[in-house]
Amino acid sequence: MEKKHYERPIIRPLNTGLMNKFGSQSVSPPMTHIDGISVESMLNDYGSPLFVLSERKIRENYKSAKRAFETRYPKVQFAWSYKTNYLNSVCRTFHQEGSWAEVVSRFEYDKAINNGVPGNKIIFNGPHKTNDDLLLATNNNSLIHIDNLDELYRLINIANNSDQKPLVAVRVNMDTGIYPKWDRFGFNLENGQAWDAISVIMTSEKLDLVGLHTHIGTYMMTTNAYKIAASKLSELALNIRNQFNKNITYLDLGGGFCSKNTLKGAYHNAIDTVPEIYEYAEVITTAILNAGFSQTEMPYLYLETGRALIDDAGFLLGTVISNKRLSDGRRATIMDFGINIMFTSFWYDHKISSVQDFGHHTEDTVLYGPLCMNIDIIRENVTLPPLKPGDNVVVHYMGAYNITQSMQFIAMRPAVVMIDTNNKVHIIKKAETLKTIEEDELTPDFLQNIKL
Ligand SMILES: *Cc1c(COP(=O)(O)O)cnc(C)c1O
Repeated sequence: MEKKHYERPIIRPLNTGLMNKFGSQSVSPPMTHIDGISVESMLNDYGSPLFVLSERKIRENYKSAKRAFETRYPKVQFAWSYKTNYLNSVCRTFHQEGSWAEVVSRFEYDKAINNGVPGNKIIFNGPHKTNDDLLLATNNNSLIHIDNLDELYRLINIANNSDQKPLVAVRVNMDTGIYPKWDRFGFNLENGQAWDAISVIMTSEKLDLVGLHTHIGTYMMTTNAYKIAASKLSELALNIRNQFNKNITYLDLGGGFCSKNTLKGAYHNAIDTVPEIYEYAEVITTAILNAGFSQTEMPYLYLETGRALIDDAGFLLGTVISNKRLSDGRRATIMDFGINIMFTSFWYDHKISSVQDFGHHTEDTVLYGPLCMNIDIIRENVTLPPLKPGDNVVVHYMGAYNITQSMQFIAMRPAVVMIDTNNKVHIIKKAETLKTIEEDELTPDFLQNIKL
């Protein structure tokens, strides 16, 4: 038997910080498999750390969201928010399900085209679209969501020199009872900017105003904000019909539905508190149905929900590097993955499961990443079994925004695998190497020789 390390005993006060009136926080049971595949075997085959995506879960999430809206309103179209997770295999899974693409930059736009999305099924949002981008989107009949007046006038100029009439929507921001207000994107409704933009579009006769768009925020914990947004957007569409005799084809309610990731400092687990998709669907569709559209002019409802469709389909697997005691005696565990690939750890207390079974003994632990940076903290306080070097963990709700926002700061980005619906593992992004990272670097001649 291996000799145990000696560790000098420490006396420390009992930590009751995790108690609330419902008792102490429970520890999640070990998670040995994902979609029938052993976590240990994936780490052996593809290295640690490793991102894992479940194709089955993505499709399930999509189908149930679609069902929630379609059973309440007949004309619904989803568009996958590329920035939430733009790995091609993820985007293509959504596209196979019938989802269009929602992009916020030229880079994402080109990705959508390469993924086989027809131009007229791409929604082009975002505050930065160059003239070249606008021309391309015009020629492809994409849906251009206008963010500001400068962009609007540039597009009118482009339309003046083109035989195509650009298809546009006005991005609207509004007071939905959520503060601070999200007013940096699009035109404000209450102060009349949105109507000004609509008037410019209608009187220019150069653009085809087909939609109205709003994305009221992200991780919206109240459905009421969507009720207000859907009512206000509907009213705006009806005003456009009355004033300009123009029917708006679609209302785009954006994204922002909660995933089941728990916000830092939240009293309860998100699973028990955040609205379900059908609750968002209920308020949005009811507001549109009651707005006063005639049967023939009911607009399409477009949705760009991101995190709610992918967060729980993504996992990060990792391995313990070492343990230590902090100055106050707290247990600290250092993992082989850090915040450079866990951007959302700034907002969420990610659920973490051990992989190996340890029985009932647990201890409050600070979970650190491997970076030589004070802020590299995965969890400030998590109740975990006593993990040893080499033991593994699964981080849950990692599907949204972590892969797209990850960076090779100090450590390189790991591989990503997808488990398909037949429980087969596919590598969908290789781990970075020194070679791929340095690919775009150039070293001038005068720096070629190093003699030390
Ligand atoms: C980011 C974004 C989304 C997706 O937001 P989620 O909060 O992930 O649902 C949708 N629409 C627009 C315009 C966005 O910028």
